[in-house]
Amino acid sequence: MGYHAPVMQNAQLIPRCLKGRSAVMLLAALPLLHGCKKETPPTRIQWPVMGTVAAVQCVDARAAPQARDTVQAAFSHIDASLSTWRADSEIALVNRIAGNGTPVPVTDNVVTVLRAAFDLCAKSGGAFNPLIGPVMKAWGFNGAAARPAPPDAETLLAAAALTDWYQIDINVESLPCTIRLLKPGMALDLGAIAKGYAVDKAWDALKVAGHTNTLVDLGGNLRALGEAAPGRGGWRTGIRNPFQQGTCLALFLLSDGESVSTSGNYERFVEIEGKRYAHIMDPQTAQPVTGMAGVTVVAPTATLADGLSTALFVLGTERGAALLKHYPGCEALWIPDTPGHLVIFATPGLAKRLTPSGNAKLDIRLIHERR
Ligand code: FAD
Ligand code: MG
Repeated sequence: MGYHAPVMQNAQLIPRCLKGRSAVMLLAALPLLHGCKKETPPTRIQWPVMGTVAAVQCVDARAAPQARDTVQAAFSHIDASLSTWRADSEIALVNRIAGNGTPVPVTDNVVTVLRAAFDLCAKSGGAFNPLIGPVMKAWGFNGAAARPAPPDAETLLAAAALTDWYQIDINVESLPCTIRLLKPGMALDLGAIAKGYAVDKAWDALKVAGHTNTLVDLGGNLRALGEAAPGRGGWRTGIRNPFQQGTCLALFLLSDGESVSTSGNYERFVEIEGKRYAHIMDPQTAQPVTGMAGVTVVAPTATLADGLSTALFVLGTERGAALLKHYPGCEALWIPDTPGHLVIFATPGLAKRLTPSGNAKLDIRLIHERR
């Protein structure tokens, strides 16, 4: 299992020990370095969590420790409910007894995330599928044993058969709600949406606690609260070049309340017989998606940005743009995996917000208006 570039924020590199996320990364709260007066950058506190790096950035340095505590409490709550990386989470129990017929009582966090996940699943025609667990396992991801060779067609067919979303029973009539996976071997995997949900819960908790001018970051799932400097109107955020580690392609302003998420094929991969396979699957083929390097989504919530970035990575530009019409207020850009010629396909709403960074000459193409 390989990891890629450490997260680079505010022009500092996080020590290599803290594994980062994709090379299609977001740089948050870039201090105003060019031209006018040098501003003191927001105070950033970071820590490892959920297999990635989390951070809060606060304009008021005195508020930073308390903001970190508030966000950490929200994240650990979500980890305890939704992680498939620990045996004692709610989702781990649901997966462990898949097929044995016992309904598992679950908390609101699980029901809320599953509602969002299955809404996205239905609207994306199954391109986003929270039951992708068996396929991830077949390829050796997410803690499964490494594969000496790519899984054969029979293995993949069997894994794909376990991602059938008609084989999950979510009972919201009972108190507490319960969940049952109807076939042994089925497994929920919320890796594509639960971090976004955690960011939303943290953002809500910060607001209730009276914080402002703070940026919440969980592995590149960002949500802005207030602004990075007086009159800025938000947080200056950058899109990283997926083919050139540590370089930024373009900047845009993430406004108060907005969220941004990126899915990339450099994030997590497995290497089998010397070939890299990305961690985002096309549920139809049970194969890792190829041809796409990264997708970034700006949305009104982090849950939506996180889930949509994965769905659009699978769907590509045309079918992705059609999906976006179901989600007003969401904008996206796609960077195909063509290192020889970097092209950015963007919805008009995001294209007009991008400022090429430095002297980058960007080939930005507008995606058809939504049909
Ligand atoms: P995204 O594009 O947002 O998601 C990709 C992930 O979604 C894949 O890894 C896979 O799990 C899933 N997926 C793949 N294809 C599809 C599809 N078509 N539809 C739906 N989902 C799909 N990682 C660790 O190494 N250690 C940990 O302890 C750990 N704990 C975690 C706890 C929680 C609560 C969560 C949510 C995740 C945890 N992770 C952990 C996983 C890790 O943080 C991220 O999930 C992983 O980096 C992928 O997220 P992403 O944003 O990078 O990519
Ligand atoms: Mg995601």
